[in-house]
Amino acid sequence: MTDNLNTLPPLHNVLQRHGLFAKKSLGQHFLLDLNLTDKIARLAAPHPVILEVGPGPGGLTRSLLLAGAEQVFAIEKDERFLPPLQDIIEASAGRLVVNNTDALQVDAAELTDIRPIRICANLPYNVGTKLLVNWLTAKPQFWDRMVLMLQKEVAMRVVAEPGSKAYGRLAVLAGSIAHGHISFDIPASAFTPPPKVDSAVIVLDILPENQRYKDLKTLAQITAATFGQRRKMLRKSLKQLANIHNISLDKWLESAEINPTDRPETVDIKGFHRLAENLPPLG
Ligand code: SAM
Repeated sequence: MTDNLNTLPPLHNVLQRHGLFAKKSLGQHFLLDLNLTDKIARLAAPHPVILEVGPGPGGLTRSLLLAGAEQVFAIEKDERFLPPLQDIIEASAGRLVVNNTDALQVDAAELTDIRPIRICANLPYNVGTKLLVNWLTAKPQFWDRMVLMLQKEVAMRVVAEPGSKAYGRLAVLAGSIAHGHISFDIPASAFTPPPKVDSAVIVLDILPENQRYKDLKTLAQITAATFGQRRKMLRKSLKQLANIHNISLDKWLESAEINPTDRPETVDIKGFHRLAENLPPLG
């Protein structure tokens, strides 16, 4: 691919030249070391289409394009970054498309007809979990891999095993359709400005279609009800949902082979699937 990406100035200069500073309210912590952004980008590219949320000054964006993303769709809420991103659009001969909006308002599946797309982002902490859940529960699944930089504590929740403290809604939803692992950690000191906590890059690979759990909506309801009160036994935390669905809680738990006195962290992902399968749809 012919482009001028390697002639772009270092990211420190980009911030300086455009008078850009980090805004806390938008979770802005920049990765200015292009060796590090290259390492992240190589987990996602080459690929025909990559979605990046929050390109900011564009370090990861440049790396994705250099690593062989044929097209990058970037969604950036902060319009101050449009001029530096315009420089990348020009240097990449139009392989970058920037959408200046709130990623929470975008249906990522609508960005392109090309399937599957990949998602690669250094996510803003304040909306990272919400975006991840939106992408996990999107129907039909439009992505084959997500490479996401998250707070380490959130990353650990995504890949947690049953019985562990970190196991919860994120692990159940993610494990129902994807195989996830933490690729590497990134210390807070690698960011400008450094956040209060360390980060980690997770990779989520979608499972083959016949292994993906289908009813993520019901699963999301059940995990919200149970892990929302994680210290309570299931016979307590699921009572309201059983009432709403007009079913006997005891029979529901029995048919799902779930012990009423268990707490949610001891139920494995298959157990949650059985709970979802045995909850009749609302009349
Ligand atoms: N990708 C850049 C990097 O690695 O240096 C910046 C990452 S910074 C952690 C998060 C970015 O997400 C910022 O550029 C911020 O403006 C943007 N952002 C925050 N909330 C957003 C939202 N709701 N929709 C789109 N972008 C958002």
